[in-house]
Formats: sequence, structure tokens, C-alpha cells
Amino acid sequence: MSSADLRHVEPDAPAGATGVITIDLPQIRANWRALAQRVAPAGCAAVVKADAYGLGAVRIIPALYRAGCRNFFVATIDEARKAQGYTPGATIYVLDGILPGSAADIAAIGARPVMTGIEEARSWAALAAGGVTAPPAALHVDTGLHRLGIGEAELDFLLADDGLVRRLDIALVMSHLACADEAGHPMNRTQLEAFRRLRAKVPKARASLAASDGLMLGRDYHFDLVRPGYALYGGQASPNRTTPVGPVVRVSVRILQVHEVPAGGTIGYSASYRALTPRRIATIAAGYADGVFRHASAGNGETGGAVSIRGQLAPIVGRVSMDLVTVDITEIEGPLPGRGDFVDLVGPGLPLETVGSGAGSIGYEVLTRLGARFHRNYVDADD
Ligand SMILES: *Cc1c(COP(=O)(O)O)cnc(C)c1O
Repeated sequence: MSSADLRHVEPDAPAGATGVITIDLPQIRANWRALAQRVAPAGCAAVVKADAYGLGAVRIIPALYRAGCRNFFVATIDEARKAQGYTPGATIYVLDGILPGSAADIAAIGARPVMTGIEEARSWAALAAGGVTAPPAALHVDTGLHRLGIGEAELDFLLADDGLVRRLDIALVMSHLACADEAGHPMNRTQLEAFRRLRAKVPKARASLAASDGLMLGRDYHFDLVRPGYALYGGQASPNRTTPVGPVVRVSVRILQVHEVPAGGTIGYSASYRALTPRRIATIAAGYADGVFRHASAGNGETGGAVSIRGQLAPIVGRVSMDLVTVDITEIEGPLPGRGDFVDLVGPGLPLETVGSGAGSIGYEVLTRLGARFHRNYVDADD
């Protein structure tokens, strides 16, 4: 089943499930293949940190491995340990680098730390023994994001230390772009030039600069390896939406009750919304505990989030509470939705980016917060 089919089916869920997250594994594989094709001959890794952006690393990582992916990026050692069991022979990079005292733990699972400074380089080099180097590692160089990475002066200092360099095998030099979602932003070129200069100082290492949006900036940004995360999961952060990927996730939640609210009636906590005319309100079984942002609430005159009912949008009215959201279904055409029916929080007609902006956030945050209480339905097929 492809994601295009998802809109025609009721989600597959136990009768008592309040919500169901449908995750299309063949589409994730197709997305990885499309990106890999796009950047070839550069390689394409997969960023699977934060439990594969909340979608379930134990299902997503094997799916990507099956598609041919052999380079995975996680944030933490625990994530690397989990990934390792599903990825025989693959390389796993730990983006958070080497926390003090953790070098041996990273080495023990055969992962590669992405080192961010000279102290980490020293602790990794200390693993070298008997004239052999320490295991391969990556080095994050800072090209202007000022978040993680070694700056140019410190890099020069590191590279001048022969005793240190001799014990290191720096297999990958990487950096990260600040403004890749804005193709025309001058910072992209500035960082590209800085990266070219810095990576040339470690000529034997492979190089990686681009994530999901960066790889759409063109060949100059591909180097040896790209590192998409969000795009694999169907995300399109850049407003021109040209990344060759399709949607992967649908989040469907049941209606618990439908109210006819008379004019003048208020809806939800703090009575922040008052019906000006008679309204039909559906209360759905999701709240901020399930990843619906409280910021998606809407009092009178405010615009918040929305849900999708058979492709039609129904706005959130009143406050989002812990387990419940109220939506205005007065204008929904067709059969009257009722208790037990599903509405979509994310899905056809309601992409991650729209859900994010409806809550003053971004699709990334929507994904990584999707509710632990919902039933998860992984669609799989041979492909
Ligand atoms: C999270 C992350 C990525 C992936 O970014 P996307 O925008 O999700 O593709 C790549 N590189 C680094 C360093 C990251 O932290």
C-alpha cells in the first residue's frame, strides 16, 4: 500500500484505541532511495535520532537498512546501542560526541563519535594502543551555526599536535547549515566556503555538510555524504516543497462526543472561546499529553490549529487540554461525524508543516512529540 492509498481507508486500530499513528514503511524506503538517487555519486545516510523522529527506531532503522542505507546518525550512545542491533556492518555516528568518560562506551559498541573539540579528540586518541590508531571517528567543524563543532583556530591547534593526530583516524569531517530551508539565504554560501576551507585541512577524511534542506541546494553541497532526517519522514521544511519525498505519517484520533453549542455558550477551560452563533463541536481524544500543542488553542478572534475530517479542515476552538481537544465541525459537509469516528491530526490535506505552523512551531516538533498513548500501525510490504 502506498501513502496515496491512506486517504481512502479507515485506520486499522483496536476498538478501544483513542488514536492511531499509521506509518508507511515502504514510503520511508522510497524517500531514502529518492534522496540517494538525487545525490549520487555522493552517499546518503539516515538521521534516526530521537527514536527516528518519534516514529519508532526499531521499525524505521531496519526498513532503511533494507533499502540499502549503511550510514546512520543518532544523537546519543543509548540510541547508537539500540541502532547497532539492526544494522550489521553499517556505520553509526553519535552526534553528541564524547561526553567526559564515555569514549570506551562508544568504542565498545563500534560506533563513531562526532567529536566537537580537542578534549574529545584527546579522550578518543587515548584508545589507541600499540602503534595503531584509535577507531575511526568523525569531526564536527563549526562553519557559523555556533552550536556544535570545533572552530578554525582550535582545529589548527589540533592538527598541529602530531602526537595527537597520529593516534586519530578522522574518517569524516562534517558541519551543519543554519539556513538551508531558505535557498537564497547568503549564509548558505558563506558556510559552504568556510566548510571547503576547513575540510581541506583534513584531506583524507570524507566530508558531509547537508541535511534534508541542504541537499536540495545543489551538488556543491553534497560532498561525500548527505545526512537527511526530516525528509525521510515526509517532511518538507523548505517552503517551495520540491524535495522528492512523499508523506509517511497519518495521525488519526477518535471523536468522543459531539455537542450542539448554542450562541453565547463557551467552550473549554477558561471559557476562552464563546460561540457567536450556534456551533457544532466535536471533542476528540487527544490533548497536549499526546503531542497536540497547547499553543494550537484558539480563543475568539485567534487562529490556532485544525484537524482534517475527510479532507475538510475543522478549526480547534477553545483550549487544548491534556487529553481532549474541541474542534468546530459546523461547516463539515457530508455525513455527520459521530462518536468513534476518526479525524486526522496529521494526514492527507494536513501536512506536518501546516500542523506545526498552526501551533507556532515546526513539523519537526510535531513529529517528535506524537503521542505515546496512540496505537501504532506500521504499514509494510515487499518492495
Ligand atoms: C538533526 C540533524 C540532521 C538531520 O537534519 P534534518 O533537517 O532532519 O534533515 C543532520 N545533521 C545534524 C548535525 C543534525 O543535528
